[in-house]
Amino acid sequence: MRLDGGAQGGDRQAADGRAGLLEELSPGLYLVRAQNSARIPYAHSLLALGDQNLLVDTGTGLDVLRRLRRSHRIHLVLNSHYHRDHNFGNWLFRGVPILAHVRDAPMLNSLAVYFRKMGILGRPDEREIRRFTMTFIPHRQGPRVRPFRGGDLFDLGGPVLEAVHLPGHSPGHCGFFHRDSRTLFSADICPDAFGPWYGHACSSAEDFASSIDRIIRLGPSRLVPAHSGPVDQDIAGILRRYQARIEERDRYIREVLRAPATLDELVRRHPIYGARIGALKLPFRFWEEVMVRKHIARLRSRGLVRKAGNRLVSV
Ligand SMILES: [Zn+2]
Repeated sequence: MRLDGGAQGGDRQAADGRAGLLEELSPGLYLVRAQNSARIPYAHSLLALGDQNLLVDTGTGLDVLRRLRRSHRIHLVLNSHYHRDHNFGNWLFRGVPILAHVRDAPMLNSLAVYFRKMGILGRPDEREIRRFTMTFIPHRQGPRVRPFRGGDLFDLGGPVLEAVHLPGHSPGHCGFFHRDSRTLFSADICPDAFGPWYGHACSSAEDFASSIDRIIRLGPSRLVPAHSGPVDQDIAGILRRYQARIEERDRYIREVLRAPATLDELVRRHPIYGARIGALKLPFRFWEEVMVRKHIARLRSRGLVRKAGNRLVSV
């Protein structure tokens, strides 16, 4: 898309290489490195410089965003998905159009919808999770986000980005593909030690796996995840191994459930995060439980796990 209102005129600027803020991916297309090596709650951004300038995500850290704003006028902001580590800086861009996929925009515009989609309403620890959510990344409501759809093209007179709908991590999770350089900013399809993550009620392990298939079919020559560095070797192999963890979690859960266990007992075995999380602290305790419930649902639907009283057991 090209902005129809609020066009600010061309101000193509050279990348601010001296500040070490930007890493060139291809002419006009830059990775904006996040604070704290993009560990949660920070995430890398993508910047496309042209007649007008486009920024994908605002979770790099407020200092980084303020430096970026001093060196580059931003005309459009896209959010890859609703999780706050990718958009907590939206409020710095008042007056700039901000867009997210139509399925995630409602969560960005309403905290009530956000909490409902997380799946915390009515839980015994609802208040605790709410408090954690509001303080871990201090909440500051950003401007109203407008919707885009998968397949939309964003052409501001520089590198053209295509929104690629990659649901699973969240319903409206999107990557952004620069076809000319075959670079895909893949946001939280991020093949590091942490994922795949589908720990909110509105997440889906099945959709996550399908989205990985979609990326492999798309065949990017460079993958740019939001929490780790760009990958340009063996992308399909790395993604296949990452995707295989979903099935590995299924297998581990079936193994544990050879001896009948309640859901709570199963969660305490940490089938997702293993010993890394130690005591079941928030937010891992909540994410682990949500993800285990999703695995149990899929295993039961395949007839691989059944209920026996209040316990679960492998078939
Ligand atoms: Zn996320």
